[in-house]
Amino acid sequence: MRLCRFDRDRLGLVLGDEVVDVSAALETLPSYRWPLPYGDPLIANFASLRPKIEALAAASNARLQLSQLALDSPIANPSKIIAAPVNYAKHIAESRADAGINFGSDVKSIDHYGLFLKSSTALVGVAEGVRLPSLDRRMDHEIELVAVIGKEGFRIPRDAALSYVAGYAIGLDMTVRGPEDRSWRKSFDTFAVLGPYLVTADELGDPSHLDFSIKVNGAVRQQANTSDLIFDVPKLIEYASAAYRLYPGDIIMTGTPEGVGPVAPGDEMECWIDRIGTMRVKVRGD
Ligand code: MN
Repeated sequence: MRLCRFDRDRLGLVLGDEVVDVSAALETLPSYRWPLPYGDPLIANFASLRPKIEALAAASNARLQLSQLALDSPIANPSKIIAAPVNYAKHIAESRADAGINFGSDVKSIDHYGLFLKSSTALVGVAEGVRLPSLDRRMDHEIELVAVIGKEGFRIPRDAALSYVAGYAIGLDMTVRGPEDRSWRKSFDTFAVLGPYLVTADELGDPSHLDFSIKVNGAVRQQANTSDLIFDVPKLIEYASAAYRLYPGDIIMTGTPEGVGPVAPGDEMECWIDRIGTMRVKVRGD
């Protein structure tokens, strides 16, 4: 199943190039009072919503064109956006070779740094796109496979890890290059793009051999396969949940391969991941 959030919080079931509006399924979500639970209610209640979504889609002949919709992030309320630094070997090599990336620091691999967090308010969908702040700095694209957590878990063992995944999407971990902490450089508003929609884990299958690429203005910048991940998706879930409890809707950005590079206002990034699809994201200035 492919689920999109469009036109200000409507829920859509994506069927090829078309979308069925299944927003009526959201009416069965529980209403909450303070203090709100951590996580995304849609994902937390997805098991009970799924048959309602299927029934609504089966009963409707109305179809929207996916290309005409303003797509928001398919996840609205992640308790956290977890991200993996330097998780592809060739990206370590390019980071060591390029002072524009490393800013004079020694580049080690993920097992040295651990994970980092991006602000959950940096999250946007395709429709909003990326807004670069007015800084005299290099600002880069990083395409990443994203795994969205489906249920609460702590100290999750590797062999159970994939059963905690609700689905997958394409992520952009936008980055200001510089000497500051990652959590600052990667948390500007609009610096976490998620989309174009969520592909459920059962539909995507094995996340460990997915080709993916990003073009900027038509030119290929990054092209890799998730089999090159140093920490793969199960390892990232095991590693993250050893430190902190995971909640439905938590976003794990799995890391970016070699080929990171700067973008400027007016650019268009075309992101593609096998078995997910394509998302086109525009870059604008402040
Ligand atoms: Mn990254």
